[in-house]
Amino acid sequence: MYDIAIIGAGPTGLFAGFEAGMLGLKAVIIDTLKYPGGQCSALYPEKPIYDIPAIPAIKAEDLTQNLLKQIEKFNHKMELGTFVENYTKNSDGTFTLKTISEKQQKKINAKTIIIAIGGGSFGPNRPPLKGIEEYEDTSVFYMVNNKKQFEGKNVVIAGGGDSAVDWAILLSEIASVSIIHRRDKFRAHDSSLQQLNELISSGKIILHAPYQMKSLVGQNANLNAIEIENISDNSTKKIDADFLLPFFGLAMEIGPVKNWSLEFEEKYIKVDHSSMATSVDGIFAIGDIATYKGKLKLILCGFSEAAIACYSARSYIYPEKSFHFEYSTTTFNK
Ligand SMILES: Cc1cc2nc3c(=O)[nH]c(=O)nc-3n(C[C@H](O)[C@H](O)[C@H](O)COP(=O)(O)OP(=O)(O)OC[C@H]3O[C@@H](n4cnc5c(N)ncnc54)[C@H](O)[C@@H]3O)c2cc1C
Repeated sequence: MYDIAIIGAGPTGLFAGFEAGMLGLKAVIIDTLKYPGGQCSALYPEKPIYDIPAIPAIKAEDLTQNLLKQIEKFNHKMELGTFVENYTKNSDGTFTLKTISEKQQKKINAKTIIIAIGGGSFGPNRPPLKGIEEYEDTSVFYMVNNKKQFEGKNVVIAGGGDSAVDWAILLSEIASVSIIHRRDKFRAHDSSLQQLNELISSGKIILHAPYQMKSLVGQNANLNAIEIENISDNSTKKIDADFLLPFFGLAMEIGPVKNWSLEFEEKYIKVDHSSMATSVDGIFAIGDIATYKGKLKLILCGFSEAAIACYSARSYIYPEKSFHFEYSTTTFNK
C-alpha cells in the first residue's frame, strides 16, 4: 500500500515524487511511456527551456534527468510502460488502480492518488485513411521493432521529420524504400539529409513529393499498394507497398480518464487550487491536466501544484495529525 500513487512521470509527476519523499510519504510513479519525462522527453528533448526559475536555460531531457536525480534518494517505485485504466475507491478510503502493461494487468493500492497525466498518453498520429486500423500490426507500423521483417520488401515511409528520414536511410540497406512527403523539404539533421539526398539521387530511395496518401489497397490485412495524390495537380497514382510506416509524430489522448467519475471542465480536471483536490476526496490533480481560475500550463506552476498536492495528500492520510512546516534546508540538514 503506497501513500501516493502518482499517475504520470512528466516533470510535475516527478517533482511530486520529490515533495512526497520530503514529507516522508512512500510513492509509486506510473507512466504508460517506457521512459520518464512526459512531454519534455517525448516531444522536445533537445529544446532548451528558459523559464525554470534560477536555471537560465536547460535542455528538456536534462531537466528530466535532474528531476530523476533529485528523487533518487527516496527510492520510489517507478512503474514505466504501465497504463492506468481505472481506479476504484475502497470502503476504507484507499484506492486500487487497475493498470495494464505489455506483460500483465496489475492492481496498485494507494491511500491517495495524484493525477499528473498532462495532455494524456502519447500515441501515434494516424493518417486519415479509411480502414487503416485493419492493416495495423501486419502491414502498417508506427514504430520499427523488428527491422528484419522488411527485408526484400516494398516499404513506403510517409512523413518528413527525423524518424521518416532516419528509417528511410536505414531500411534502404535491406528493402526497396519509397518516401511520400507533402513537400520536397525535410526537417531532419543536416548529416541525415545529405545521406538521404545521395540515396535519392542514386535511385536507392524513391521520393514522391509533393504527394499525400489517398487510400490503401490490399486484402485480409495485407497491403499491396497505396494510392497517392499529387498535391499540386491532384493527379493520382498507385505505388507498390508491402508495408507502410507513417511517421507523423505523436498525438496526446486523455483516453479512459475522461470517464473517471471526476469533475471536468472541458478536457481538464477541475481542482481547488488551494489544495489541488479534485471532486473525489483523496484524489488530487496537477500539471497540464488540472484546471482552476488563472491556470497557466507551465512547468514551474506544475512544480508548485505538486508541492500543494503532496501536503494535501498527507493531511488526507493523517487527518488527526498536525505537522510542523519544514524547509528542505531543515529536513535534509538534520
Ligand atoms: C514543444 C513544447 C515546448 C514547451 N516548452 C515549454 C517551456 O519552455 N516552458 C514550460 O514551462 N513548458 C513548456 N512546454 C509545456 C510543458 O512541457 C508541459 O506544461 C509539461 O510537460 C506538463 O507536465 P505534466 O507533468 O503535467 O504532463 P506531461 O509532461 O504531459 O506528462 C504526463 C505523463 O503522463 C503519462 N500518462 C498519461 N495518461 C496516463 C495514464 N492513463 N496512465 C499512465 N500514464 C499516463 C504520459 O505518458 C506522460 O508521460 C512545452 C511543451 C511543448 C510540447
